[in-house]
Amino acid sequence: MAQKLPISGFDYVMPKPDAETIRKAIVYKLIFILGADPKDANEHQWLNAAMLAARDLIAEDFLKTRRAHIENGKRMVYYLSMEFLLGRAFVNALINEGVYAEFEEAFKQLGKEFADVCEQEQDPGLGNGGLGRLAACFLDSLATLRIPAMGYGIRYQYGMFKQEIADGQQVEKPDLWLDQDLAWQFARPNKQYSVRFGGQLLNMGGKKEWLPEEEISAMAYDEIIPGYGGECANPLRLWTAHAGKLFNLADFNKGDYASAVRAQNSDENISRVLYPNDSTDSGRELRLKQEYFLVSASVQDIVARHKCRFPSVENLADKAAIHLNDTHPVLAIPELMRILIDEEGFEWTKAWEMCCKIFSYTNHTLMSEALETWPVELMARLLPRHLDIIFEINAHFLNSVQEQGFDEDFVRRVSIIDETHGRRVRMGWLAVIGSHKVNGVAKIHSDLMVNTIFADFAKMFPERFTNVTNGVTPRRWINIANPELTKFLDKHLGGDDWRLHLDNLTKLNGRADDAAVQAEFGAVKKAAKERLARYIETELGIKVSTDALFDIQIKRIHEYKRQALNVMHIVDRYNKILENPDYDWQPRVFIFAGKAASAYYMAKKIIRLINDVAKVINNDTRIRDLIKVVFIPNYSVSLAQIIIPAADLHEQISLAGTEASGTGNMKFALNGAICMGTLDGANVEILEKVGADNCYIFGNTVEQVEEIRRNGYDPLSYIERDSDLRRVVNQISQGAFSPEEPGRYKDVLQPYGDYYQLMADFRSYIDTQYKADGHYRNTSAWRKSALINIANMGFFSSDRSIADYCRDIWYIKPLSEKELPGKN
Ligand SMILES: *Cc1c(COP(=O)(O)O)cnc(C)c1O
Repeated sequence: MAQKLPISGFDYVMPKPDAETIRKAIVYKLIFILGADPKDANEHQWLNAAMLAARDLIAEDFLKTRRAHIENGKRMVYYLSMEFLLGRAFVNALINEGVYAEFEEAFKQLGKEFADVCEQEQDPGLGNGGLGRLAACFLDSLATLRIPAMGYGIRYQYGMFKQEIADGQQVEKPDLWLDQDLAWQFARPNKQYSVRFGGQLLNMGGKKEWLPEEEISAMAYDEIIPGYGGECANPLRLWTAHAGKLFNLADFNKGDYASAVRAQNSDENISRVLYPNDSTDSGRELRLKQEYFLVSASVQDIVARHKCRFPSVENLADKAAIHLNDTHPVLAIPELMRILIDEEGFEWTKAWEMCCKIFSYTNHTLMSEALETWPVELMARLLPRHLDIIFEINAHFLNSVQEQGFDEDFVRRVSIIDETHGRRVRMGWLAVIGSHKVNGVAKIHSDLMVNTIFADFAKMFPERFTNVTNGVTPRRWINIANPELTKFLDKHLGGDDWRLHLDNLTKLNGRADDAAVQAEFGAVKKAAKERLARYIETELGIKVSTDALFDIQIKRIHEYKRQALNVMHIVDRYNKILENPDYDWQPRVFIFAGKAASAYYMAKKIIRLINDVAKVINNDTRIRDLIKVVFIPNYSVSLAQIIIPAADLHEQISLAGTEASGTGNMKFALNGAICMGTLDGANVEILEKVGADNCYIFGNTVEQVEEIRRNGYDPLSYIERDSDLRRVVNQISQGAFSPEEPGRYKDVLQPYGDYYQLMADFRSYIDTQYKADGHYRNTSAWRKSALINIANMGFFSSDRSIADYCRDIWYIKPLSEKELPGKN
């Protein structure tokens, strides 16, 4: 790797990225920064020393990028999200910076096992599921594509939770990810903003004055997001609640320590955990405060940054795009209105015009319970000025609706204030009204979005709605997660370009029939399966055969994702093997992972069911290991990196119409696994790309699901007609897998009349599973299908998604070579 250009105007010594220099840098950091003795430093200290050394290599990109942002005056995008599920930073940074081999060599010279040191890093606890992982893939692509961009999030002290399984049940433990003393973030104690709550709103002759009662300080930490190729590195700015100068010294000095500390604690609770349990009023209130905390600090920072770049706020709308990842940060709209009007002195009309150019919003779900609303009463108490602004936005909006001649009923439906269940603020409506573009995350989802939840708005503003199909970064999901596949692709695609141009994968289409290539791919898959098998044996003490078909479902546990349908197939297969032991069964290992929200009773029950079924079947000697069931605890990005490359078949079996896109499906296909899925989310587009011979599609379509609902869905009629189904339902609900408590699962399969239609899709699911067995037994045909899956995944690169956003939604161009000089 060549030396980089120095930052102009200053002399400094940039470390040379060769193994020798890196080794010395690591030892230097260990001794002089961490104060540890190389003789007895632990692996963890070595990791931190290495991260500091790597950070030095990236700091220059980071500063150069920052300068380019300030000096070039280009429009920037600010990506606001309550979650960023980043995964480990260290190896990602080495790969993106092109110094992995040098660090590996440096550790060899130090006599340390590099892999063990890398394993020390814990995943940041900043996200929960697909929405957060999407944000993380997008940050990687934004930096790689040299887009002037910045992420904003919250630095949750305890993450979501660490999942342990005790007696088959999920137990939530605090995720102490910050204890590792992160070398990867820059603390910015000089970047602090006051975030205010409560108090009163005074009307001073038309001008509103807000006298808040509570004030919390938001302090920034910058996480460096290095792009692939080591030229551009963008910041992810994470806010932490900080009593800071607001700490009540008066109380403390009076000797009232308890009350001084109590106030500090309650302030700092804001950034304590992701998703405080929302089954209580105080949990919900904390969540709303978190949302405003993120938004207020970020919007204040965006305005302050703009003032550094330009003489006035006048041109903010030309220079800033703010993207709302779901409705969680939608209070950014009234917050920017407040700043523009109350602090910058703009008129309403001008401020609103600016907002509508600045904001865009991604919808992530059509499920009504996930569309956020907040009681007007709560918002009045916590954010009186914002509620007042929301009322005014609504009044202007409803006026224009009436002027366009829409009827009363229409006006009621599109009002930001829902009057039907007490008065509530509809955050999704506010997002649509205040944004110039609203997108869904897969074709089918975007179509449903304009035909269902946003149908009224689509009538008024058809040009506002669009689609950007999700994507995943090939850097993490192949290069880091699957070293064997990386080597295979480098060889067969004739170079490493595919990391930046994933469409290059199509070259594999011509080789999918080649016996030698198939054999090589077989070895790639085998290596990944062996790695996972070792993990399972070490962590859970379960032995699995890598000759078995690995059938994997990993994702948040939720009824709509239908892990229970997967379990029903396992139980049916168990029954059939016992009935017909001499048949030549295809051995399968069923692997699950995923967290259930701490207050989600049914999801937790499903985890327990999986573990109970595993216990019975894994220990039944008559099954002779033809079925193994494994639940791997504490699903995370790092775990996904081990599991996904090992999959033969992946389960994407949500009820059609419920999964917006899914990105797990893309990661699996990219790693040569075949989809067992419904026509839902991005499965539809995966099918389009890989063809029906290379993808197992089963179950009812969205139209069929709706028709069944319209006609009054009757799960019992399916159960009566199908004796296999009847047997499975009876076994689970009558305690065949919980003999010590036969009633444990009596409610798990048909709550609310089987809302997610497991019974309706059961037969088609089972039949399709047996087709997959037949296909798998033809090794050559299976590998061919797997290769065709990989070959046609180019479209699902997050680089393509980001290019779509830049072109159609944000109107942003990458930094040119002149604006951000690369390595020479
Ligand atoms: C990709 C990913 C998800 C999203 O998975 P889906 O199957 O799309 O729901 C969730 N969590 C982690 C850790 C992931 O890597």
